[in-house]
Amino acid sequence: MGEQSSSGELIVRCECGFEARGEQAQLVPIVQKHGREAHNMEATPEQVLAMARPA
Ligand SMILES: [Zn+2]
Repeated sequence: MGEQSSSGELIVRCECGFEARGEQAQLVPIVQKHGREAHNMEATPEQVLAMARPA
C-alpha cells in the first residue's frame, strides 16, 4: 500500500461533457483521441495538460 492513489491522477473535462481520468501518460493520448474523433481537433500534450485538473 505504498501507492498514493490520489496523487498523480488527473481529470480532463471537455466542454462536450466527455471526461477522462488517469495518470498523465495515459490521459494525454485518450484526450487527443477524443479531440480527433469528436471534434476533429488535434491537441498537443501541452493543451491537454492545460485542461487537466488534479483528480
Ligand atoms: Zn469533447
